[in-house]
Amino acid sequence: MIPILCSLSCLLVPILVSLLAEWRVKSAVDRYVKVPNASGQTGAEIARYLLDSQDLQHVELQRVDGTLTDHYDPQNNILRLSPAVYDGRSVFAAGVAAHEVGHAVQDQDGYIPLYLRTAIVPLVRLGSAISPWVIIAGFALSIFLIGIVIALIGVLLYATVALFSFVTLPVEFNASRRAKELLSSQGIATREEIQGVDRVLDAAALTYVAATIDATAGVFYYLLRLFVR
Ligand SMILES: [Zn+2]
Repeated sequence: MIPILCSLSCLLVPILVSLLAEWRVKSAVDRYVKVPNASGQTGAEIARYLLDSQDLQHVELQRVDGTLTDHYDPQNNILRLSPAVYDGRSVFAAGVAAHEVGHAVQDQDGYIPLYLRTAIVPLVRLGSAISPWVIIAGFALSIFLIGIVIALIGVLLYATVALFSFVTLPVEFNASRRAKELLSSQGIATREEIQGVDRVLDAAALTYVAATIDATAGVFYYLLRLFVR
């Protein structure tokens, strides 16, 4: 009974947290994309201003298709902003642009979790691509000891996804903290606007927490299936 309940919570809890995160992001974005920022600048203008203020003139700005596709590329020193952020003059655009600048400043400061996250990407890609097949093969052979060993290797490969999501958490929280400090210290956002920025970035951070819970629960689920029979 207990293993069944544990297995069920490993499946249900991540789904519920993901749905909550999705709803929080959607409501925060819908609200603050309509609130104009007091500076009247676009996300691209704010990002350029903040980058230059931190001696990051070499970081290039680019527009990227999609929604919430904004990211900083540390390999090529490019900050890519989605159309709603690049061209938007909203509190949402200011918050997301400043958050991405936060990542560029992490890179400049030699912030170790950022490098760790970049360094483990190839391992995570390999782990997420082959772990399902290794786990399936291991479970199929699990009446033999070798099957248990293969399944365990599969779970370890899958655990790289959980590791990646754990390393992502400090990177994202730190970038949001830097974003709020930059917007305040450079006089771009008012105190009320910082509250809006907070709501948007907190909601976005919840999606990373949801991904971490999902990946960790997945590891526990496979371990339970393997060892509790
Ligand atoms: Zn980020």
